[in-house]
Amino acid sequence: MASYSELANRPVLTQPVYEAGRPIEVVARDFGLDPASVIKLASNENPLGPSPLGLAAAQQALKQCHLYPDGGCTFLREKLAKHWGLKPENFVIGNGSNEVMILLAQTFLRPGDEVVFGSQAFIVYKLATLLMGATPVEVPMPHYRHDLAAMRAAVTPQTRILFLASPNNPTGGTDRPEDILQLAQSLPEDVIFCLDEAYAEYLDEAVDLRRLIAAGRKIVVTRTFSKAYGLAGLRVGYLMGSTEVVSLLNRVRQPFNVNLPALAAAEAALDDNAFVRETRAVNAAGLTQLMAGLKQLGFNYIEGRANFLAAQIPQAETAFTQLQKVGVIVRPLKGYGMVGWLRLTVGTESQNARLLRELGRL
Ligand SMILES: *Cc1c(COP(=O)(O)O)cnc(C)c1O
Repeated sequence: MASYSELANRPVLTQPVYEAGRPIEVVARDFGLDPASVIKLASNENPLGPSPLGLAAAQQALKQCHLYPDGGCTFLREKLAKHWGLKPENFVIGNGSNEVMILLAQTFLRPGDEVVFGSQAFIVYKLATLLMGATPVEVPMPHYRHDLAAMRAAVTPQTRILFLASPNNPTGGTDRPEDILQLAQSLPEDVIFCLDEAYAEYLDEAVDLRRLIAAGRKIVVTRTFSKAYGLAGLRVGYLMGSTEVVSLLNRVRQPFNVNLPALAAAEAALDDNAFVRETRAVNAAGLTQLMAGLKQLGFNYIEGRANFLAAQIPQAETAFTQLQKVGVIVRPLKGYGMVGWLRLTVGTESQNARLLRELGRL
């Protein structure tokens, strides 16, 4: 009799496991702490909480949760269309932007295809690639920054997708809009360029690829409500691209992939400009605070504009555990090949101060 493993699809057996930030309640239980005293600076969540408009809409929507959500995400796509000056048919909504990246892989990748991304790029690109039996082509990142010329040079006739996040997670580095535009223009017609803009709201200037998309280039852009809108727990993200790519992805996704309160929250949060503005301001101040503090402690970090910093901390893997003991959760980056590095999410002023204090005590 065959074991389950013998029956499984080949790629599943070697599929790496995504290591998420440790939840507050779990750390509190493991270390005998009061959950209320634990701070989580591990998953780049919004320290201000959810968008108030989004939260109110989700609460209201829960009363209707005996009904299926609108599988077509009609109103959110209409709102996004207005927001971006595109058509509703240019958007696929996902259970987080993670899902739309998986949909992209499921729709376009088969064994033998190559997918290009940076050696310290967001791990989901690799997971999506491997799961479909395609081949990851990881382009070295000197000083943990994308080498866009090397990424372009890594493209072969087998390349199907090229992923780029700016800012990149977990390194935090950002590529210049003009460089991203140039890369997008330089790619062969049959390569899909997926620009992951999970942290674009934190930038002063994000690249705009809509003109190239309209001109028929194979470009898709992903965004999320998880970071600047503070809705990570509800899971909503989206992809914008041509009507053709959108209609293909819609065939692959589950009929009700985005839940009812999440849809309502995202629709409302999209109008919450005041919240996003405050988020940006708190983050900018927090970044300055963290960078100054790390410098003072003599710790190296990667300059960035997102809502987190990658910092080189002595004995980072031990420090990760030590910090949990005192109720501070951060993220070790060993899994990204960055031994000796921790990723620190920007928190509120007092959370940042506490993190720096505990780092100093190590
Ligand atoms: C957080 C993050 C996302 C968003 O994930 P969701 O599934 O939308 O929560 C996407 N890309 C990168 C690089 C991220 O860091």
